[in-house]
Amino acid sequence: MRDLWMRTCERLSGRLSAEMFETWIEPVVFGGLDAAELSLRVPNRFYAEWLGTHYAPAILEAAALELDAVGEPSITPVRVRFEIDESLRDRLVPRDRVPKPEAQPVPAPVVDEVPGQRLPSQPPISRAELNPKYTFESFVVGASNQLAHAASLAVAQSPGKRYNPLFLCGGVGLGKTHLVNAIGHHVLETNPSARILYVSAERFTNDFISAIKNNQMEQFRALYREGCDVLLMDDIQFIARRESTMEEFFHTFNALHHMDKQIVVTSDVYPEHLEGMEARVVSRFQSGLVADIQAPDIDTRVAILEKKAESEGIVLDKSVANFLATCVKSNVRELEGTLIRLSMQAELMGKKMDLELARTALRAVLPKTEQATSVEDIQKAVCDYFNLRLIDMKSQRRHRSVAFPRMLAMYLCRHHLGTSFPELGERFGGKDHTTVLSACRKINGLLEAEDERVKQPLAAIERRLGF
Ligand code: ADP
Ligand code: MG
Repeated sequence: MRDLWMRTCERLSGRLSAEMFETWIEPVVFGGLDAAELSLRVPNRFYAEWLGTHYAPAILEAAALELDAVGEPSITPVRVRFEIDESLRDRLVPRDRVPKPEAQPVPAPVVDEVPGQRLPSQPPISRAELNPKYTFESFVVGASNQLAHAASLAVAQSPGKRYNPLFLCGGVGLGKTHLVNAIGHHVLETNPSARILYVSAERFTNDFISAIKNNQMEQFRALYREGCDVLLMDDIQFIARRESTMEEFFHTFNALHHMDKQIVVTSDVYPEHLEGMEARVVSRFQSGLVADIQAPDIDTRVAILEKKAESEGIVLDKSVANFLATCVKSNVRELEGTLIRLSMQAELMGKKMDLELARTALRAVLPKTEQATSVEDIQKAVCDYFNLRLIDMKSQRRHRSVAFPRMLAMYLCRHHLGTSFPELGERFGGKDHTTVLSACRKINGLLEAEDERVKQPLAAIERRLGF
């Protein structure tokens, strides 16, 4: 089988430039071929993402041709699965141009277990289960995640005492997994013998299924009920509609709760929106504290980028940080991914990671909608600049301290987004379109008169928005 990969590589080498082949294919190691899935080991998450989007079809095609050639078409893979293997980092070429100082956090799903795998005979209760990078120290707090952060910290400081369960919910890539891991680390710091069980609901389900199959329910319960002081259950939505798993979880929950063991659950939606989740389970979730995480605002996004750059040893210019934060809004994982990708690209091309490179690189990668700054973004940026509340900006107040920023924001929207006057009127708290029109005219006039009181704030806000 290893041969198969070698010959697949040969085929690929004929189709790619030597540089591309060296950079992307050579560091990859064959991991296995099973159930229509070709498993490849790669040095970091960046490789998994890049190969997945750019080379998976070519790899599959080459592998199919090879299997055909050796008369084994029946085992032709239809999917590539990437597993991150940090030990492969030294295979990164060219070495002098692609230094990867730090390992990427391994996202759990890449190596998640499949149903039917054995239940670990040793309870997997250790630090190793937690992602070492996901700590409170590396978590950036902003308005969007303040409550979730505070609640997590409180729980970590006195597990089982307050907020039990703690239910963290929010969209994809907003830091739920990061926070539960941070809780685990923090509890272990104060109490190294605490038994922390961090599992995805999927893993719980798999363990449960194989425990039933292998007659190991006793071990299963020993692990999840008696062997655990803090249960951190990630992505609980996975067990919705799985009747027996839900039932088992319900009893696990009750047993732990009864012993005052801390339970933290994450989910992509609020408890009441978990479709297919039993009412009694939902009501358990609601009995503690439900804290949600929203998409971060622009300042938090910039702060996250800066923190990430620092920890990865990436030199990040303020203007590039602002630009990236303006382009990628809804998902922190994507935000980080964009930063890493960009820095990798800069390294590969031997260029500086400046605004120009960022603009070029992102134009190709981001869908149109992600690129566009919204009316809301402009309003927020202007409010931030003038220390104003969004409510005031949209209010009917005419005091100059409010009216001037409002006019500027209207002008910026019109000028950069081309939004229509009536729509802007609407978006600024139901104003008449003539109000917007005269605001734009006014600012225009002041700009033409080179009025510094307009030019200066305008330039600062535009810079911040990456215009
Ligand atoms: P979720 O579990 O909600 O889908 P994750 O916790 O996996 O999201 O977060 C995605 C990525 O974004 C992780 O690498 C995480 O470290 C990072 N991240 C999310 N929120 C923050 C934050 N507030 N500060 C620093 N990093 C963050
Ligand atoms: Mg997660």
